[in-house]
Amino acid sequence: MYLWENRNFETLFINHKLTLRTARQFVKMVCRYYCVRPITLKSVWLGPKSWTAQQLPNRLEVNMDRAIGWNLPLLAHELAHHILDKKLGPDHEAHGALWFGVYLHILDKYRILGADATLPSTRRYGLRVKHPDKCKPGDL
Ligand SMILES: [Zn+2]
Repeated sequence: MYLWENRNFETLFINHKLTLRTARQFVKMVCRYYCVRPITLKSVWLGPKSWTAQQLPNRLEVNMDRAIGWNLPLLAHELAHHILDKKLGPDHEAHGALWFGVYLHILDKYRILGADATLPSTRRYGLRVKHPDKCKPGDL
């Protein structure tokens, strides 16, 4: 999954594309769509050898030292975790088919990357994905 992300988001998944304010607006919009409480965003500085993003209960911390920072694919990835945590509890599969479907649905709905592009590439990587059209708020 991380290899798929790195290949597909080579130009999207690097550096800061959003201000923290815009990132918060995106989070609010997606959380409102899925009817879950928005997750709080926080920038942290932990150095290049540490993690990229860490999700705590109701808080997402992004390590700003990895030159990744606030960008839409990262937020879509983390929001898919947050939404499933809120809807299903913490026991769902972290990067399973349902999580991937929600992730791709967010990417598609907000025109970050269309499902017509992402779905065929996930198949090439042998990833299990529930169809994003079946991962809308009413489906969870
Ligand atoms: Zn993840």
